[in-house]
Amino acid sequence: MVSEADCLFCGIVAGRIPAEVVHETERTLAFRDINPQAPTHVLVIPKEHYPTAAALAAADHGLADDVIEAAHAVAEREGVADSGYRLVFNTGPGAGQTVFHVHGHVLGGRDLTWPPG
Ligand code: C5P
Repeated sequence: MVSEADCLFCGIVAGRIPAEVVHETERTLAFRDINPQAPTHVLVIPKEHYPTAAALAAADHGLADDVIEAAHAVAEREGVADSGYRLVFNTGPGAGQTVFHVHGHVLGGRDLTWPPG
């Protein structure tokens, strides 16, 4: 696991690493994914470092709620809330998680198939 000191997304929160921020609250940050998989592809994170969604939920239910609320605010702002969007938390390497600072992917703006790959 990556420590906070060399965590990419902690670097974005601290302003050391550039990102296109689209939404910010006291405890959350949302920015565009650098490799978008849909017309809207935004990552929503807690500013505080938790490696996975499971770790966040176990430690701070209120903050987990904030992340989900922020994801919906992003979807509304991006104009995909009514047509529908997907909120994905890849959790663990087997599910494709590559950055171990919990992040929800907000995906929308195109038809999304099920099941995902
Ligand atoms: O769920 P997973 O951990 O695979 O998602 C990490 C996401 O972070 C990827 O979609 C990747 O494109 C994105 N990323 C980013 N900015 C970076 C590094 C990774 O948006 N500087």
